[in-house]
Amino acid sequence: MARVTEYFGENVFNESIMKARLPKETYNLVQRAIHNNKRLDSATAAVVANAMKDWAIEKGATHYTHWFQPMTGITAEKHDSFISPVQNGKIIMDFSGKELIQGETDASSFPSGGLRATFEARGYTAWDPTSFAFIKEGVLCIPTAFCSYGGEALDKKTPLLRSMEAINKQALRVLKLFGNEEVTAVKTTVGPEQEYFLIDKKYYLERKDLIYTGRTLFGAMPPKGQELDDHYFGTIKSRVKAFMTEVDEELWKLGVLSKTEHNEAAPAQHELAPFFATTNIAVDHNQITMELLQRIAKKHDLICLLHEKPFDGVNGSGKHNNWSISTNTGVNLLNPGETPYENAQFLLFLCAVIKAVDEYQDLLRISVATAGNDHRLGALEAPPAVVSMFLGDELSEILEAIEADAPYGAKEKENLKVGVHVLPKFPKDTTDRNRTAPFAFTGNKFEFRMLGSSDSVAEPNVVLNTAVAESLRCFADELEGAENFETALHDLIQNTIKRHKRIIFNGNCYDESWTLEAEKRGLLNLATTPDALGRLLCKKNIELYATHKIYTETELRSRLEILTENYCKIINIEANTMVDMAVKDILPAVGQYISLLAEAIDDVSDVFEVDMKKSFEYETGKKLIALKGEAYSAIKRLKRETAKAAAIADYTERSVYYKDKVLPVMEKLRAAVDGMEALTAAEYWPIPTYGDLLFGVI
Ligand code: ADP
Ligand code: MG
Repeated sequence: MARVTEYFGENVFNESIMKARLPKETYNLVQRAIHNNKRLDSATAAVVANAMKDWAIEKGATHYTHWFQPMTGITAEKHDSFISPVQNGKIIMDFSGKELIQGETDASSFPSGGLRATFEARGYTAWDPTSFAFIKEGVLCIPTAFCSYGGEALDKKTPLLRSMEAINKQALRVLKLFGNEEVTAVKTTVGPEQEYFLIDKKYYLERKDLIYTGRTLFGAMPPKGQELDDHYFGTIKSRVKAFMTEVDEELWKLGVLSKTEHNEAAPAQHELAPFFATTNIAVDHNQITMELLQRIAKKHDLICLLHEKPFDGVNGSGKHNNWSISTNTGVNLLNPGETPYENAQFLLFLCAVIKAVDEYQDLLRISVATAGNDHRLGALEAPPAVVSMFLGDELSEILEAIEADAPYGAKEKENLKVGVHVLPKFPKDTTDRNRTAPFAFTGNKFEFRMLGSSDSVAEPNVVLNTAVAESLRCFADELEGAENFETALHDLIQNTIKRHKRIIFNGNCYDESWTLEAEKRGLLNLATTPDALGRLLCKKNIELYATHKIYTETELRSRLEILTENYCKIINIEANTMVDMAVKDILPAVGQYISLLAEAIDDVSDVFEVDMKKSFEYETGKKLIALKGEAYSAIKRLKRETAKAAAIADYTERSVYYKDKVLPVMEKLRAAVDGMEALTAAEYWPIPTYGDLLFGVI
């Protein structure tokens, strides 16, 4: 087998391929486009397109597609072949600069949240040269942004690119104040750790809930769950290992820096983490990773479940968004430096994040708000719905010393002064120092842990980039006018700590006392998606996005509509699936078993002339009849409530109705069905059990 170093990135039209295949001048122009956000002119695009096409054809590609990320959360592609007819019934393989730079597509089948009504149905896709083209399944995929005819963003990439530009602009202003003249670009970096479940395909195919909704809507706990902790970091089974090996190989060919794989806490749960990359590339790579995980699993007769809560009572799957800020000179701005001067710069960027997370905690919560993630946040392993920040004891003590104008540590006598004192090295958080915090400083980056496993990582990073850009904007405004930079910097840092320290919490976020404490501190506890979405259009949020040109108010409203509508649709599908499974599979099966019990009772009491009232058969039958009755009335109620929900015209009201009226009835139905499962003979139970799903891959 070929060596990894040889095939790594072989399916990517990356910088080294461009360097080898493009005329020097063209290559330089593309470099400028990538690193300094300059537009490509049409002549240059034509040269790039031609080189890209030749390369793709040599690799066996016959088609190309503008690969984009609409609001559905998955990626979209429409394949066009390179063929172009010439005389005598012949063809040539052709791909023009225009086709590379811009595509036109029918936007009417993608969610637009009302933008479609006021604008044309046409949508445009535009090449994002900062993310490389790649070949997937014989198709040249060109990463693109997707906009409406009027220029409104219809996708996840457009706002992300805008937010990267915003933080670049503001961070450069701040760096200049520190005398950093050589830095010309600042980018955020992301390493998303991806969790998932692997189950056997044959069981999956027998579960309509998994097929239609990605999660189990019924299922009693097996005798064993995750309590023995024997899965986490355990030996990887050979079937899973074969799958992971293939995933790695395919990801490496696509230039995705897949780095670590291990078993997670729950049975059948695993994790894949890449080496970090520039944010928009990391977002693209995470989409590719999710797609490959699912596709390759099937080849191994496995199914990869990306749902954030596929099993009740078992850990859900999240995604940890590791995030930092780097300069084009290779400096990680969230890395505490060696000198007082570097320390001061670090502290200012740290404060920018603290302020951002405190002021825009609602936007961070919204960025991970989905019907699926609502089951996870606050349960077992996941962070709670309250956004708070873990800094660790050392850093917290330093901030306290600055805030109080006090000495830091036992040895120091002088008060801690920003820009004068060297800070100690902070240990990197490599262990489970605090796994409960939604937002944690881990030595040289922040880890945002609230994302659900199926989420695109785009939106959380839009929020982070934009909110931190806003902090930096305020800081730069204040410092640029300062008479004495050192004093102003010290005061600014001190004031920021004073004002925003309520967001910092180093304790156990799963503890109930934290919920109360958080409330006292005035932190938001947005437990559900409708609660969170209710805050999207707050004045401060509209202003934030307008200031940094991320979303117009129209775009924001359209997104709110899409997110709300999506929440309603998901719960509606889940409710319908539950009714379908209960009516067609579960109740008939339980009915048969009850008849069997009744026959057995009759037979035995006739033959042996005994009173069966205390028998296993009688008592089980009685309980099953009662539960069946409960299930049936829940089904009738569920049908009524979903019909009522569907009749509510206003999406926000409708989503609240689903949350308050539909979800509780779904829980009732589930409780009755799970109760029946525990009492029904295995051969009568019509669907694979949690035991099959969680322990079925051997
Ligand atoms: P571990 O937790 O195993 O010690 P790290 O903390 O180094 O590993 O990294 C965990 C994740 O964070 C990885 O995906 C890694 O690439 C990512 N990461 C590390 N440094 C950065 C950074 N500067 N910016 C963004 N992500 C990073
Ligand atoms: Mg982590």
